[in-house]
Amino acid sequence: MRYLGFVSFAFAASPLLAQQSSPPPAAPIDWNAVRDETVGMMREYFRINTTNPPGNELQTALWLKRVLEKEGFETQILDTVSLGAGRANFYTRLKGNGSKKAIALVHHMDVVPADPAYWSHDPFASDTAGGFIYGRGALDMKGDGIAQLMAMLVLKRNGVQLNRDIVFIANADEELGSTGALQFVDKHPDLLKDVEYLITEGGDNLVQNGKLKYWGVGVAEKRTFWQSVTVKGTPSHGSRPTKQNPVPRLVRALDKIANYETPLHVTPGVAKYFHDIAVNYDGEQRRWLSDVATAVKNPRARAWLTNDVYWNATLRNTISLTGLQGSNKTNVIPPEASAKLDIRLLPDQDPNEMLATLKRIVDDTAVHFSTDLQPKVPLESPINTDFFHAIERAAHDRNPNAIVTTPMLTGATDRPSYRKLGIITYGLDPFMTEGADGQRGVHGNDERLSVANAGFGVHFLYDILRYAQ
Ligand SMILES: [Zn+2]
Repeated sequence: MRYLGFVSFAFAASPLLAQQSSPPPAAPIDWNAVRDETVGMMREYFRINTTNPPGNELQTALWLKRVLEKEGFETQILDTVSLGAGRANFYTRLKGNGSKKAIALVHHMDVVPADPAYWSHDPFASDTAGGFIYGRGALDMKGDGIAQLMAMLVLKRNGVQLNRDIVFIANADEELGSTGALQFVDKHPDLLKDVEYLITEGGDNLVQNGKLKYWGVGVAEKRTFWQSVTVKGTPSHGSRPTKQNPVPRLVRALDKIANYETPLHVTPGVAKYFHDIAVNYDGEQRRWLSDVATAVKNPRARAWLTNDVYWNATLRNTISLTGLQGSNKTNVIPPEASAKLDIRLLPDQDPNEMLATLKRIVDDTAVHFSTDLQPKVPLESPINTDFFHAIERAAHDRNPNAIVTTPMLTGATDRPSYRKLGIITYGLDPFMTEGADGQRGVHGNDERLSVANAGFGVHFLYDILRYAQ
């Protein structure tokens, strides 16, 4: 509404200029019709089987091309050769007047495998039942992709004046190698050079029993830093124990690592998250949450905070000892013993420092560390931006008391690939998905999105994109 008020003011002040630059007055949007159209699009999109492997994203890219070219967009299907047979990235852009930098809407077209035996509906039939659309990808994240697409279409059809171009990107292969986003960023930085903000998955809203607890905008994620730990020894017969058995030596090292407590460290997004959710607690817990950097120095507060596995993981670097390999025969002392460490670093932590710490704790030069997965670019996006404020405004339109906060993602997304170009990236999920549905459906069974949510998500994104102009 404020936008329309501004336009009429411009008309009054300068009729000629306004006539030239303003779009024709838009008809009121029929949001029920938009919802129904969105559901129809989602059902078509979910039916295209993009299980990764093999991905098959060329088919979804061709579908996007057909739909968007009908609406007057120029589209590009990219990286078909380098991504391999049947694979592709997709790109298009809704032009604004260019007075401000662009906003990119990004989703991945691939989905994880689904076993129909465990589903109540065929994962690729897009059945609707009980007010839900069932389909692999409904929540992760083909549903988001269609909500983004529809929000962009409504902006275009409605002639909303855009100061920022809206860039729409669909990537291959997020669920396995992230090659889609990596190649897009490497090969087409020109298509991204004017992009200031980018949204994709990595938001984490909390909805319980139909009530929104908070909108969780992802501003940060942990950095995966995987290590192999190896000890070499001398192989021999298990009936004659030797000092050259690598297994006990590895076990001693691992025991030290398992007992090592990483220091607690509060990053800005995490501090805001705890501060925002403090209102849901009482007494000393509320006090601790509202200033978590101080609270972590108090042993009781510290014990309470770290007792929650999610909170614990957002407050420190974590080390999970996972794989373990010695001999494959009981009577053989092996030549080598090794283990795998799943290390997740906070965004502002130095991987080399972590490695040096591990070596110091283990204190045994026979124990070798090698890196299996290098951390991606650190991701900690600023909160005080036009785009973040647009999300807050759209959330408060719907509920003046809604909390818009910034939980850290302990897993990984494609965002760091885009962050490498300096783009401010946010994880934003436009749906009010019930916690239980997300828990069961994402990478699980009976993944589904409600019809009401489909409509809600498009309208929410539409408002955010308008407010961010
Ligand atoms: Zn995903």
